[in-house]
Amino acid sequence: PLSKLSNVGTTIFSQMTQLANENEAINLSQGFPDFMPDSELLDHVDHFIKKGFNQYAPMGGMIGLKEEIAGKIENSHQAVYHPDSEITVTAGGTQAIFTAIATFVKKEDEVIIFEPAYDCYEPTVELFGGIVKRFEMKAPDYEIDWNVVKSLVSEKTKMIILNNPNNPSGKILKEHDIQELIKIVEGTSILILSDEVYENIVFDGKQHLSICKYPELKNRSLLVASFGKLFHVTGWKIGYCAAPKYLTDEFRKIHQFNVFSVNTPMQLALAEYMKNPDHYNQLHHFFQEKRDFLRQGLANTSFELLDCEGTYFQALKYDKISDKNDLDFAHELTIIHKVASVPFSSFYKNKLNENVIRLCFAKKQETLERALENLSKL
Ligand code: GLN
Repeated sequence: PLSKLSNVGTTIFSQMTQLANENEAINLSQGFPDFMPDSELLDHVDHFIKKGFNQYAPMGGMIGLKEEIAGKIENSHQAVYHPDSEITVTAGGTQAIFTAIATFVKKEDEVIIFEPAYDCYEPTVELFGGIVKRFEMKAPDYEIDWNVVKSLVSEKTKMIILNNPNNPSGKILKEHDIQELIKIVEGTSILILSDEVYENIVFDGKQHLSICKYPELKNRSLLVASFGKLFHVTGWKIGYCAAPKYLTDEFRKIHQFNVFSVNTPMQLALAEYMKNPDHYNQLHHFFQEKRDFLRQGLANTSFELLDCEGTYFQALKYDKISDKNDLDFAHELTIIHKVASVPFSSFYKNKLNENVIRLCFAKKQETLERALENLSKL
């Protein structure tokens, strides 16, 4: 057959955004801000382009940016990565994830993922001949039963993919989750790919527990983060992978033939902007206001608000409103009520339908108000 991924179509995010546009609906489906990033950051880009920084960056990234990243990680998680040999700037979080999987997953290797899972993990593993073992986290609390996870581990397990905070459920890992994970990987050579792109968006004073805080995990982990989420520039497609040197060395063998290196002037601009930690330390306050506004607005509807501990997504159970499956309901909501969402079943291989949809609240106040107006009748 011609296709290497015969079961894969266009991502649900592209589909729902297209449906929103066709129906002139308010797009709370695909996760991206509809407001401008800080003009100071934009001015830095302008500056560096005009100064003449328009040629290839070094393969692993501009050293100034890698130093800022290492500084941020150390300040936030007391973990030390060597900027030059342990941090790689990537063309977004998704590329870092793809490259990490491409680098380490061989034919027949098993990879454990947690569903609901961000859409790129499974197809990428499959592309490299890996076999996915999945644990389904379920509504309403999306807890992980680590005994079940343990039973998925075999001598073929190459990697565990974590997404913390979790897109789409908004769930964060707790200390006991991490301790269970440590027990599971102890004495094995299992690698961890930790997608932490929403690390700075955690609410209610709760703490993000990065994999790199725990030496037993850090030494076997590839930590992925994203400037798109951090600075409201998802279209810049810049992120990074932090990993111990022995993993980074391998990662870069693939990275150099995939993207080679990432956009120079934007790396310089990001480095300049990161010199002020206030530019990211306050992000959770900014999004908590939006989350709370959305939740308050929905409190009078028949939607059931599930917990949102982190990310910029709110999960809603709608079984008091409709008995349609979540894909049909999301379509109806877009076409009739003019609010686009993402159905949770698209984050499960077996399309588990628990009548839950996801709304993105990384939107202007005015956008959220208009969406709430439409949803208030439900
Ligand atoms: N991360 C975004 C989301 O979860 C989607 C990005 C994309 O469209 N690939 O909505």
